[in-house]
Amino acid sequence: MSTVELYWRARNAGRLGLKGTEHIAFDWAAVIERKDRLVASWSEGKERGLEKLGISVIRGEAKFTGPQEIAVDGKKLSGNKFVIATGSKPSRPGIPGAERGITSDELIHLKQQPKQLVVIGGGFIGLEFGFALARAGSKVTILQAGSEIAPALDDDIRKSLLEIAKAAGIEIVTDAKVKRIGDDKSVEAEVAGRSQRFAADQVLLATGRPSNAPALEPQKADIELDRSAVKVNEHLQSVSNGNVYAAGDAAGQHQHTPVAWYEGVLAAENAVKGNHRKVDFTVFPTAVFTIPAIGQVGLTEKQARATGAAVKAGRMPFSSNPAAGVREEAEGLVKIIYDEKSDRLLGVHVIGAEAEDIIQIASTAILGGVTRSTLASAHYVFPTLGGAIFDAMSAG
Ligand SMILES: Cc1cc2nc3c(=O)[nH]c(=O)nc-3n(C[C@H](O)[C@H](O)[C@H](O)COP(=O)(O)OP(=O)(O)OC[C@H]3O[C@@H](n4cnc5c(N)ncnc54)[C@H](O)[C@@H]3O)c2cc1C
Repeated sequence: MSTVELYWRARNAGRLGLKGTEHIAFDWAAVIERKDRLVASWSEGKERGLEKLGISVIRGEAKFTGPQEIAVDGKKLSGNKFVIATGSKPSRPGIPGAERGITSDELIHLKQQPKQLVVIGGGFIGLEFGFALARAGSKVTILQAGSEIAPALDDDIRKSLLEIAKAAGIEIVTDAKVKRIGDDKSVEAEVAGRSQRFAADQVLLATGRPSNAPALEPQKADIELDRSAVKVNEHLQSVSNGNVYAAGDAAGQHQHTPVAWYEGVLAAENAVKGNHRKVDFTVFPTAVFTIPAIGQVGLTEKQARATGAAVKAGRMPFSSNPAAGVREEAEGLVKIIYDEKSDRLLGVHVIGAEAEDIIQIASTAILGGVTRSTLASAHYVFPTLGGAIFDAMSAG
């Protein structure tokens, strides 16, 4: 996403007084090839790290054959404790012609940039790829089954995202009931009772990622699943087989890389040393890599009001932030939600340039129990995008 963002910002840098920006081109094949090289080098690095620790890696597909035994491509292995970390895979919705669509796994390997992309699914993955392709020059339409895209977002952030998407030329259609993907890859959907056809040369299926745990034949080891994920307690231990733990997408709590790292260590420690650590997501920052990105930590305004707290919200648009103005990146806002009685921050949400980094200021403050008024009177570096967090603390 960062390469696309750089490209898009560079193309628009004429406003900054730079010349020749219209000649900057996006080389899809080169970008994909570089991404493959980076991923391969990180994987090799991780594998070397395992070897250094004396951990042996057996390659193959594992399946349980009993409560204490697995088989990897027919070779049996037994153990006292197991940690399931088998991740997730993209779902393929049961609509006629779904085989003509591609998932995100396939899109990131395409040799050619789609000219016209229809995305089925307005969740985070659909939005991220929708924005990336639109910023890279493709025509993008996102079809969302429900009445709102990304329902987990704070309402003000979603509103801002929709405005930014519109300005980026992304067509977002909600309450769209997809009927079929045709031979020509056009997508037929019923919208507000009328049948509509959306032309495409690629259709991205972004309708969720179920856990891979069912393929492990977990029933042979008495491992209960909750939908597709391993049903675990707060120690990440299977509720039905105490010798089994699960982490990351297989445990199904939050589908994020740092969660997989955190849970993997926690599950392994609990498996080896006994259940001495519980999962804790009290302060849990996340980002959505739309362009610009979204960063969030804590509760949305709706969630905060549901707790019965004396909720107040403050909003600071990036159009009031000098650093954003200098960079011509004034889209978006910072929104803070706090308890008026205790002055405690309940949630902070950012949409705008570098939101994925800026949110970590708020996350660290919440972790340290820093109150809103302390942040409002704190010194900060000027002019910076992160300064918007501090300014938002005084916005009523
Ligand atoms: C398009 C996309 C973008 C994303 N962007 C972000 C992001 O920006 N930030 C972020 O934090 N998260 C992001 N995520 C989510 C993140 O990638 C996952 O949450 C994370 O990789 C989960 O880690 P994991 O270890 O649980 O599973 P994985 O990383 O999927 O690893 C599971 C491994 O288990 C192997 N496996 C599966 N079944 C078996 C079996 N039966 N036997 C043996 N091996 C098996 C798989 O081959 C795989 O190697 C993104 C995900 C997608 C799809």
